[in-house]
Parts: sequence; structure tokens; C-alpha cells
Amino acid sequence: MQLKNYMEEVVFEMLDKVMVKMGVCMCDKCRYDVAAIALNSLPPKYVVTEEGEVYSRTNELTTQFDVDVATAITRAAEIVSKNPRHEVRNG
Ligand SMILES: [Zn+2]
Repeated sequence: MQLKNYMEEVVFEMLDKVMVKMGVCMCDKCRYDVAAIALNSLPPKYVVTEEGEVYSRTNELTTQFDVDVATAITRAAEIVSKNPRHEVRNG
């Protein structure tokens, strides 16, 4: 058996969509920074999975849940785009 933070999957699922919409840098460094900040501000959601099992989205997740995650990602993307930690080329 494995413990998995399902919140990670939800954040990564929504991450690119939100970042594209906001027009922020999409390099790996920025994407992971946004994911880390967003996940730190969201409650973890641990699920038990058997090895190899693909965890599918459950009905317990509500629209409000999606809104909360999108809001956390948006805030995180704002923080990262103001202070990107990727290496800036040309200066
Ligand atoms: Zn970047």
C-alpha cells in the first residue's frame, strides 16, 4: 500500500492551464515553484492506493474544492512571476 497526496495531482492537473492563462513563465523551475507554493497553502489530501493503482477523481471533490485549488495556484503564480528563481538569460 502507498500513501499519496492527491492534492499534488490536482495541482499539477490545473497548473499549466492557470499559468498559460496568466501568461507567466512556464519553465520547469517556475512550474515547480508555483506547485510547491500552491501545495504549501493547501491542505494535503492523503489517499491510500495500492501499488500501480491509478487513482481516479472522486465525487467527494466539489466545485468549491476546484476553486480553492485554482485560487492557490493563481496566488502562487503571481508570487513566482514577480520573483522568478530561474536563470535569466541576457542579464
Ligand atoms: Zn521560469
